[in-house]
Amino acid sequence: MSKDTSSKSWRPATQLVRGGTQRSPFEETSEAIFLTSGYVYPSADEAELAFKGDKQRYIYSRYANPTLSMFEQRLALLEGAAYGVATASGMSAVFAALASQLKAGDRIVASKALFGSCLYIIADQLPKFGIEADFVDGTDYDAWAKALSTPANVVFMETPSNPCLEVIDIAKVSEMAHAAGARVVVDNVFATPILQRPLALGADIVVYSATKHIDGQGRTLGGAILTNDQEFIEDHLTPWMRHTGPALSPFNAWVLLKGLETLAVRVKQHCENAAKVAAFLEGHPKIEKAIYPGLKSHPQHNLALAQMNGQGSSLVAFEIKGGKKASFATLNALGIVDISNNLGDAKSLITHPATTTHQRLSDEEKTALGITDGLVRLSVGLEDAEDLIEDLDQALAAA
Ligand SMILES: *Cc1c(COP(=O)(O)O)cnc(C)c1O
Repeated sequence: MSKDTSSKSWRPATQLVRGGTQRSPFEETSEAIFLTSGYVYPSADEAELAFKGDKQRYIYSRYANPTLSMFEQRLALLEGAAYGVATASGMSAVFAALASQLKAGDRIVASKALFGSCLYIIADQLPKFGIEADFVDGTDYDAWAKALSTPANVVFMETPSNPCLEVIDIAKVSEMAHAAGARVVVDNVFATPILQRPLALGADIVVYSATKHIDGQGRTLGGAILTNDQEFIEDHLTPWMRHTGPALSPFNAWVLLKGLETLAVRVKQHCENAAKVAAFLEGHPKIEKAIYPGLKSHPQHNLALAQMNGQGSSLVAFEIKGGKKASFATLNALGIVDISNNLGDAKSLITHPATTTHQRLSDEEKTALGITDGLVRLSVGLEDAEDLIEDLDQALAAA
């Protein structure tokens, strides 16, 4: 590795293109993919020093890999984090961030509107290891205060939430969480680091599914954990990652590293398109209600704009009049937008949460989360917004 070209003083757009780049002696313009599991040492003495930790060098790709280091450093620079750790998927990032620091007898408090697999980890897995889990309505600050009036070790939240786009005040909850002795973990997938930087708002740890906007073209799974908490990294996450092995493939790290180069321009366009689509849906006679943080009608509209860089995100949720039948008819009539539970893709993707991502929830749980039979979630892509609006309009005629 010859030269580290990153600089902390660069602005975000520059960091995304150049941050973390380490050129090899071949001086390539596009970052190299180091598809290697191991590394060699010039002497047995050097190997001994490396294992003692006296000499910084790559030892094994379950521990670290140069392509992963470039991805981790570029994302960390953008996030304003001292440490970045890449993982094989978003879920391995969530599990590592929680399991590495929690032990039997500990307590986690989480917002209840969570991505389904995060809910599974916190509600079903962690209690098996003696970790108590309590859930609150993320937008009810009295509920947070009550839950945090007894000590907790971790607070976990997702904002905006999946699928109803509830927005939680990260700074406010972080303050309460710290007073209760907890570290704050934020799932920042929907907002992306372009719109929202939780560490600057008081959170301690940010987790990503890089599978979504960071890749942005539906090619690979990946995840990341970002933090400034040295104790968490050194005492908990680093040994946990090294010895349990949820490492990202170097090839996938390279895909994500290249994804970061275009993240800012893509997210800007996603949001612009989503705002137009949301405005169209809000006035449509077949729509009961359009949910988009950028709309004035959204219950946390002002907080959303203040916390998310003036944007409403790339996701729009809406309720179609006529329940499941009308929703299915609309989805099946779409000509451009694909039916898929993925999101953050260049291609617009739509899903019916009640029968797919949230199918295993009980009727009461669905109602509590606002997941009705007429609710659909749309991840607005990078197609021309007018084409998307025309497609939705002709499909809604089938509702
Ligand atoms: C997709 C997603 C995850 C899980 O990420 P994977 O990369 O699919 O493992 C976690 N949280 C949110 C909000 C997501 O959208």
